[in-house]
Amino acid sequence: MNFALAGNPNSGKTTLFNLLTGSTAHVGNWPGVTVDRREGVYRGLAEDVRIIDLPGIYSLSPYTPEEVVSRRYILEGAPDLIINIVDSTNLERNLYLTTQILESDIPVVVALNMSDVIRSEGESLNVSLLSERLGVPVVEISALRNEGIEELMEAAYKTASTPRIGFSPVESSPMAGEMREIAGLFRENGTSHPVFRAVKAIEGDSLYSSPGESIAANVMAIRDKISLPPALDGDFEEAVADIRYRYIASNYMQARVRADNSPMFSKSDKIDRLLTNKLFGLPIFFAIMFLIFHLTFSDSVMFSRFLADGGFPAPGVMMQDWMGMLTDWVIESARAALELWRADAWLTGLVADGLLSGVGAVLSFLPQILMLFLFLSILEDSGYMARAALLMDRPLRRFGLSGRAFLPMLMGFGCSVPAIMGTRTLVDERERRLTVMLMPFFSCGAKLPIWSLFAAAIFPRNADKAVFGMYLIGLAAAIVTAIMLRQTILKGDASYFIMELPAYRMPRLRNLAMHLWEKVKGFVTKAATIITCATVVIWFLSNFNFSLKMVDANSRDSIVGVVGSLAVPLFRPLGFVSMPDPWRAVVAIVTGLIAKEMVVSTLGVLYNPEIDANALSDETSSGALNLALVGSFSPAAALSFMTFNLLCVPCMAAVAAANAEFRNKKWMFTTIAFWISTAWIGAFIVYHAASLFL
Ligand code: GDP
Ligand code: MG
Repeated sequence: MNFALAGNPNSGKTTLFNLLTGSTAHVGNWPGVTVDRREGVYRGLAEDVRIIDLPGIYSLSPYTPEEVVSRRYILEGAPDLIINIVDSTNLERNLYLTTQILESDIPVVVALNMSDVIRSEGESLNVSLLSERLGVPVVEISALRNEGIEELMEAAYKTASTPRIGFSPVESSPMAGEMREIAGLFRENGTSHPVFRAVKAIEGDSLYSSPGESIAANVMAIRDKISLPPALDGDFEEAVADIRYRYIASNYMQARVRADNSPMFSKSDKIDRLLTNKLFGLPIFFAIMFLIFHLTFSDSVMFSRFLADGGFPAPGVMMQDWMGMLTDWVIESARAALELWRADAWLTGLVADGLLSGVGAVLSFLPQILMLFLFLSILEDSGYMARAALLMDRPLRRFGLSGRAFLPMLMGFGCSVPAIMGTRTLVDERERRLTVMLMPFFSCGAKLPIWSLFAAAIFPRNADKAVFGMYLIGLAAAIVTAIMLRQTILKGDASYFIMELPAYRMPRLRNLAMHLWEKVKGFVTKAATIITCATVVIWFLSNFNFSLKMVDANSRDSIVGVVGSLAVPLFRPLGFVSMPDPWRAVVAIVTGLIAKEMVVSTLGVLYNPEIDANALSDETSSGALNLALVGSFSPAAALSFMTFNLLCVPCMAAVAAANAEFRNKKWMFTTIAFWISTAWIGAFIVYHAASLFL
């Protein structure tokens, strides 16, 4: 038997699913879309039952991949039963989906989740009344505390073998007659789920309303007989939504019993009056975000540099230092071991300088990424992120994005890789693509060393303004291209943003640990595969010439040196390759495509072979590099070079992440082409504008 789990996002579906399926769970993908398909087996009944976790949805309309996947499974996958999980603290919004599920002919059991919260707020639910009015069994559960689960599954098992006929609130509305007529046509025709399809036909929903040529005209003729109130302006979808909400309010909401002594507003309402306040909402939000980034990225936490000399680094930075020490130790040990075994120089170079350094450089970001994700998971689980997205929705809407895009964009300032993975929360496919495409423009942490280097060398008096300028150029590029993309290849408006505000909850350790584990797994896998390959290739290309003889690392005779020289003409209009030996800047750009961390070390090696690339933070050696750079880059050329690095392909890990999100080669190549051309055009504009003014 197959039971499908359906419910709104944040209703506790995953928690219930994990409880039911335990170790049998596995994740796949729904065909053709980037939506997770979770499946597992529940063994607590007379026979094993397969549980399919449908994606979290608010409705069974055809607008998001999640909705399409869910309704296709409900209508065509023929589950034996649907467990509709309902967040009892948000009964009205959750039952909206329930009314749609009940229109199918599939047996349904409603699980009223979060019953522990309801109780603690001094309320209760009249389960038998609700069950009688919904016409299906209703069981109170708490997925979190493992309460009521066995009762739920027993009820489900019993119900699964009892046939059910779809029911719709439309049946007690002015258009009931027409709906029944259309349903009758479908029934005669032998179409499954006649009530569901009849309501969809009235809503004007294309996907499941077209019953084939034979009765389509009849269906339309019946629908045309319906007269809507003029206020609705012929919007059938809204008319039906209206009917649903009215029906819920007048038939189901009496099930909610407030205890006499319960306060007028729940705790959540009170907190929300402050946190989503028109005046204070955004400032509070930015303060929280600042705190998170500060704790993750600052090297002088809580401005402690004013207290102690140098100050204390933030926990994130401290852990990154430790991770750096660990990887350095591994690299040095490997080098020592190889030398002990008298390995050839090229082997030592490949393993220590190529492989381990490359992977190590990337892994050293793991602590900060984890930390950022920990904070963000806490905000998410507590219910605060829903509020933040709501607050940012209006400002973002002007650029064709909705509030949901905000969080990934914010994360992009830290690292594009988790940010791109974070776009999964976006419901609209085009919006998701747009957000991924804009990602490089939010200057990530790995680009900061480039800005610092050039700011100190070329703009010593205006270092802060030069760095700040990079962030502004990135934002400008994001705004301009977002508007352009929305009018061309990603036509359309931001998705309609309905988001129920879940009640605030204490985040649970188990949930947090699981989220983090998924992130670590993804990140480490990427580091181990893509980055390893890329590093080995780059190391090889910069250490060998075309006749496969080893040359001085990064010299002009190496393969990158030769190819870099060939590519110089492409970059000439951008101004930064006019100095002697112009290929060097090109090679730095190219290594930057692998990882932006490599730009500074490449420049170090190429422009001043005397100095140790690892000691760039050291005052004296960076002084030498600064002098070399001043000789090679005019201010305008430096800005152009920085702009190109800012706007171009962020790094191979980001490309891999984007590829995993798109799952579409054509889009991937379009996006890479978009990044490269934006970088070229941006650098061109910056160079010529700066040449005029500087
Ligand atoms: P999903 O989005 O529907 O998959 O929801 P999750 O399973 O991720 O749950 C969302 C949040 O609700 C998590 O923080 C859970 O710990 C919490 N949660 C789930 N079920 C319950 C419950 O019965 N009681 C309480 N208090 N919290 C719950
Ligand atoms: Mg979930």
